[in-house]
This record gives sequence, C-alpha cells and structure tokens, in this order.
Amino acid sequence: MLRATMTSPGVIRFDDVPVPVPAPDQVLLRVRRIGVCGSDIHVWHGRHPYTSYPVVQGHEFSAEVAETAAGLAAGTLVTAPPQITCGECLSCRRGDYHICERLKVMGFQAPGVAQEFVALPRSAIMPLPEDFTPELGALVEPLAVAVHALGRAEEVAGGRVLVLGAGPIGNLVAQAARWRGAARVTITDVSGYRLEIARRCGIERCLDASGASIDAALREEFEGSGPDVTFECAGLEETAAQAVRHARKGSAIVVAGVFAAPPRVDLGLVQDRELRLVGTLMYRRGDYADAIRCLSEGGVMAAPLLTVSFPFLRYAEAYRFIDSRRDRVMKVMISLDALQ
Ligand SMILES: [Zn+2]
Ligand SMILES: [Zn+2]
Repeated sequence: MLRATMTSPGVIRFDDVPVPVPAPDQVLLRVRRIGVCGSDIHVWHGRHPYTSYPVVQGHEFSAEVAETAAGLAAGTLVTAPPQITCGECLSCRRGDYHICERLKVMGFQAPGVAQEFVALPRSAIMPLPEDFTPELGALVEPLAVAVHALGRAEEVAGGRVLVLGAGPIGNLVAQAARWRGAARVTITDVSGYRLEIARRCGIERCLDASGASIDAALREEFEGSGPDVTFECAGLEETAAQAVRHARKGSAIVVAGVFAAPPRVDLGLVQDRELRLVGTLMYRRGDYADAIRCLSEGGVMAAPLLTVSFPFLRYAEAYRFIDSRRDRVMKVMISLDALQ
C-alpha cells in the first residue's frame, strides 16, 4: 500500500509499505477521505511548534472497515478521534484526557492516517450512520472541535452568540450554536468569500470586519449590551481585542483560535466587566458522538464547506491550492478512492 510521509516542510514522499497487520484489539481500516486543516497547513509550512519531521499526516478522516472484526462489518464507514493519551496524568485521571500532559495527536506527534490502510484500536473507532458520505465522516473531527468549544460556555441555548472568524472552525461553531438552540448567531470575518459561505450555511447575521466600522457595527448588532457568549475563532490580536471590548458584562469568551504570536488584550476590561476567558482544545469522545448526531440530524449544512477534493497522490497539490487561494478556501479533502 502507499503511505504519504512529509519528510520536511513542503515535501511529501510516497512509499510502498506493507499493509498493517492489526493487533488483537485493533481493526484494519481502508482510509476514504482526509480533511486538511489549519494545523496541517502549519506543518506544511514548517511552522507547527509541536511537530517534527518526518511525519505521516492525517487526523480528520473517514475510513471503511477492511475486514469484519470486533462487531464491525466490512464496509462500515467509521471515524476515530486522533488522540493518544497516557491515562495516568492528573488530567487523564480527572477525565480530561484531551488535555493530557503527554498528549500525542496522530498526524503531528504520532503517525496519522495518510496511507491506504491503517489499523486502529477498536475502542477508538466510531461507526457512522448509514447515510453518511465519506466527506461527512471526515467533517466529524472539526465539528467535534466546535461542539467542544460550545460546551465550554453556558448561555449558548437561548443566548445571543458572537463568532469572530468565519473559517471552517468559526463556521462550524456558528452552525452548531444554532443547533444548540442559540437565539441569534452573528459571525464576522474580513473575507467576503467566507461570509458568503456562512450565509449559504444559513447564518443570517454576517458582518464584514474588513472596514473601520466593525466596532460600531458590533455595538449596533448587540444594542450596546454585547453578546451573551463570544467565540474567538480567528487567532488574531485584533479579534481577541474585539472579543474583550464587546462581550456582555459577566459573559464568557471562548478562545478557540490558534495564535501565532501572543496577542495584547485589555485584561483591565476582563476585570472590570467580570468577563470569563475560557480556553478550548480539541474534544472528548462525547463531543465526537454529539458531532455525529448533529450531522445526522442535519444540524450543520456541510456542502458549502467542501471546497474541493484531491486524489491521494496529489496531496502536495492540495496544499499549493490552499496557499494560492488563501482565504478563498474552506475545507479541502484528500480522497483515497482514486489514487491519482
Ligand atoms: Zn484538524
Ligand atoms: Zn495523560
């Protein structure tokens, strides 16, 4: 079988390697789709702080069971969370294994699924509903990120939610907030393309943040009192500062964006307005289950998010496409149904 290894930033090598032999607690899977996410792009550019080379990428994916095993019939579409945890540290013992002290994530600090076949522990594998497409299956991971972020704040149900950043995660946070019963969801971005995608996903209140008037627009949008919950999904100093400036007194700001540099924010406002700054990282298994349920209930419109798929052997081209389109791209996937 073929396996894709990123040997150094910007270089992907394909090797012919043996199909893995599953251990007794493992199931052999044939990989169908791999989603490319922001963190993968950082690895491609050599700017991911916690990844060394060579690395086999691929952490958001769908696959089908290759041989019937452990109660899973051959052909069943499945996915699995990519976390490898120690089970012993304080976080793990508290049930917060997603922030394990020795957390390894497949595709970053452990081999990912960028290969035709992969053997994974039965305990990690989650079967998907029968009507799921391989693309939907590969969307479970980023949606689980969004579902977990929503779970970090109270007041989403019935509340007025502000999402800063309309990239894939911001979009999914906004859509899942609506699914969780938010009274109103407002999303901002500097990219007209991303706002248009948000509109096509049914997010009605889309604000263009590219002009100087975004502060006035946000004040007007929330009638001066501010959103009940704010999600920072851009990872920029500007949006972090906006979150603190506009959050309703006594409300929560969930920080979901990944920051390339430490942002300057006004902690004086956090103190004076009793704001709660809350971080969010990845997900737990329950978030995966909720994400699967959300997709099967149609809680999220997926089609507008799927920009394009590239065949496996054109993996590098997918990155070049993303680099050339910059913010005019949402979710790019790698398909292993056809290799080239
Ligand atoms: Zn990801
Ligand atoms: Zn641990």
